[in-house]
Amino acid sequence: MTKYNILIVGAGPVGSVIAEQCASQLNWKVQLIDKRPHIAGNCYDRFHESGVLIHQYGPHYFRTNKASLLEYLSQFTEWIPGNYIVTSNTRGEHFPFPINLDTLAQFFKLDHIDEEKAKQLLEEKREKIETPKNSEEFVLSRVGKELYEAFYLGYTLKQWDMHPKDLAPSVCGRIPIRFNQDNRYVDHEFQFTPKDGFSKMFEKMISHPLIDLQLNTDFKQIKEKPPIIVYSGAIDEYFDFQYGKLGWRSLSFDFQVKNEEYYQKNVQINYPNEHKYTRSVEIKHVTGQKHPQTVISYEYPKATGDPYYPIPTTENHEKYLKYKKLADEETTQNHVYFCGRLAEYKYFNMDEVMENAFRTFKVLKSKYGNQ
Ligand SMILES: Cc1cc2nc3c(=O)[nH]c(=O)nc-3n(C[C@H](O)[C@H](O)[C@H](O)COP(=O)(O)OP(=O)(O)OC[C@H]3O[C@@H](n4cnc5c(N)ncnc54)[C@H](O)[C@@H]3O)c2cc1C
Repeated sequence: MTKYNILIVGAGPVGSVIAEQCASQLNWKVQLIDKRPHIAGNCYDRFHESGVLIHQYGPHYFRTNKASLLEYLSQFTEWIPGNYIVTSNTRGEHFPFPINLDTLAQFFKLDHIDEEKAKQLLEEKREKIETPKNSEEFVLSRVGKELYEAFYLGYTLKQWDMHPKDLAPSVCGRIPIRFNQDNRYVDHEFQFTPKDGFSKMFEKMISHPLIDLQLNTDFKQIKEKPPIIVYSGAIDEYFDFQYGKLGWRSLSFDFQVKNEEYYQKNVQINYPNEHKYTRSVEIKHVTGQKHPQTVISYEYPKATGDPYYPIPTTENHEKYLKYKKLADEETTQNHVYFCGRLAEYKYFNMDEVMENAFRTFKVLKSKYGNQ
């Protein structure tokens, strides 16, 4: 018989939050496993050989509109302001991105533009498509052909290896157009970075004495299973790919040391057209680390490798719904709960996925809390 009340598969944000809650709120003995040699899932950061703190799986910018989430995480970390500034390098120039008034003025070579003039300009430029059916139509209907070709078309082709015509409107629709000079990447009320990094924050979160962390451990290796399981791994893998594999887009990261304190002006530069990589990231702008050198990460999208972005096609969606049906049955019959980006086959930001983790914990507490 296992000595644990619950097995949690995956020590990423979802697994860490649920483990911490089960231990601190229910006094459960928690077995927390991850097949990787480290915690924090894709939010993992570490010191590069040069001594510069890097984000191993792409830049992670923490942001939320929920004060309660920030308060919860503040038990495990102090914060520094999130300096999330992104520019787009196209036609040999750097433009503020997402598109704002300064982007429009620079792009259309205007001395000055205000909100009213910008709306007028885009009204002239945009294509009058009533109900956009795909990402291309969506962007054309908002900003017109010139901005679409400069900022969206090439980036989307590289990122997805698919034409925006073949992607749902929501894929490009997530990026805002701003009629002000706000040059921050995102609009959320709270934009902060853990002072000592994400790995340290999650390390503290799961340091509760009732949590047993087992790294380099795959779910398949666990023979004696506790009565309740939370699974944050890939849903198709759990069911032995019986309906086939769900499609994911992956990335490779090329980390390059530069012998200067800072190499680029801001944390992230997008390359919609030039170069094979989609973006270059200098996370030092966000971590605020003092170091004489810096590290730039170049991101190359690819078809195989670690699963990063679910590919938003109808075929994948339908396949996922079939797995979801199996997952619901598994929850009812065997008390296995599926939570997280891999388990729900959806791109979530950290704050969203942690909210899902709290929701799952609530269910666990109400169903089994008195055991
Ligand atoms: C390139 C990139 C950039 C991102 N940038 C941001 C950002 O700026 N801001 C933001 O809020 N979010 C960002 N995200 C999203 C963020 O990474 C996710 O929201 C978050 O990591 C999801 O947490 P999770 O616990 O669901 O999954 P993960 O972090 O993926 O953790 C799941 C864990 O489960 C483990 N696992 C899987 N299968 C098994 C198994 N069979 N046995 C044992 N262990 C297993 C994995 O090894 C992994 O460690 C980004 C994501 C990517 C890909």
